[in-house]
Amino acid sequence: MKRIFTCNNHLELQAFKEALNRVGIQHFVKNEYIFGAVGELPFTEAWPELWVVNEDQLEQAQQTCRETEQAMRADKPEWLCRHCGETNDGSFEFCWQCEHIVQNG
Ligand SMILES: [Zn+2]
Repeated sequence: MKRIFTCNNHLELQAFKEALNRVGIQHFVKNEYIFGAVGELPFTEAWPELWVVNEDQLEQAQQTCRETEQAMRADKPEWLCRHCGETNDGSFEFCWQCEHIVQNG
C-alpha cells in the first residue's frame, strides 16, 4: 500500500475518492474520521491521507487526482479582491491579503 497524498480539505477528498472509484482504483482513507480530534493531535497527523491498495496503480491514482484537482480549479477561476485588488486563488473564500470575504464574485 502506498500513500497517494495528504488532503487538507474534506470536500476535495470526496471528489478524489469519487474519481478513483470511477477509474476502478482500490483505495482507502486514513484519518478520515479523526477530524473532530484536531487540537489534540499534532496538526499534520490529523489530515486525511489517501492511500492506494495496489502499488502498481499508484501512478494512475496520482494522475487521476491531478486531473480531478485541475478540474476543480477550473470550476473556480481566480478572482480579484474588490477591497485591495489582490488576485486570489479560486479555492479561497476570502482574500489572503486583506481577509476581505468574497461577496458573490
Ligand atoms: Zn483583499
